Amino acid sequence: MVIPGIHHITAISGTPRVNYDFYTGVLGLRMVKKTVNFDDPQTYHLYYGDETGTPGTLLTFFPLENAYQGKAESGMANRIGFAVPEDSFDWWVDRIAQHVERFDPPAERFGRPVLTFQDPDGLMLEIIPLSGVETLPGWENGEVPRKHSIRSFANATLLLEDATHTGKLLKTMGYEMTEQDGIFQRYVADNHSHVVAPFLDLQIQPGVAGRMGKGTIHHVAFRAKDEQEQLRWREEFIKVGLQPTNVVDRQYFKSIYFREPGGVLFEVATDPPGMLIDEPKASLGESLRLPPWYEDRRDQIEANLPFL
Ligand code: ZN
Repeated sequence: MVIPGIHHITAISGTPRVNYDFYTGVLGLRMVKKTVNFDDPQTYHLYYGDETGTPGTLLTFFPLENAYQGKAESGMANRIGFAVPEDSFDWWVDRIAQHVERFDPPAERFGRPVLTFQDPDGLMLEIIPLSGVETLPGWENGEVPRKHSIRSFANATLLLEDATHTGKLLKTMGYEMTEQDGIFQRYVADNHSHVVAPFLDLQIQPGVAGRMGKGTIHHVAFRAKDEQEQLRWREEFIKVGLQPTNVVDRQYFKSIYFREPGGVLFEVATDPPGMLIDEPKASLGESLRLPPWYEDRRDQIEANLPFL
């Protein structure tokens, strides 16, 4: 049993409309689900991804209008890498320079080009060219043509003081450390057998405690192929001394959560049932979806949500 890669990444943003414009407009992702935070239905939970919201492409946000500015430090995931086809990298360098306020010049990490920039709330993002991703569907949105579109995550990076125990856990999950570049270690899922969201990077750096808030990553979720496999993972994690939660129904997947030894919140989420369970592919993300247990409060919930 091995983890085939990242399922989704969830972050906190400020104003929902600003978040929506950036991820669908500037980055050209598809909004594949507009729903509420199931633990706080006064606020949105927005999902972006490829044309069908495939696991490994899903970036989700809890937009909080009045959120404090967060700061990613030790024990938090601090950057998200998007995979684009190798010959699309220069196109993205131009696009980011034209449309994004805060960005670095293109650089190299693990011998590959990387373009680092920030979203409107200061969340650190990267464009990483990866061979093989050109065959993935992506999405065609506005000014971002399908051939250059973001295909999936390349990676997430965890900022840690010490990588020993996290590294050990990742090996349990079927990840293998394949490369090192200065303070960065790269782990690859399932022996390079997946092109969708294959990497998890560790950035090892002494630091102070961070602060969750807008512009920071809340958790990183990994894939399980079904509920049975998820339960087996839950047993595995208990065996190695972690404390996973019970299974939670997130409507589009089932979830368990636990804190990995470096302090980052991890989740294991099932691939099924997926984003198409409650609306057709053609109109994904266009109307507010609520889980059955909130449907009878729809009017009140809709009236309280901010403009989007
Ligand atoms: Zn999650």
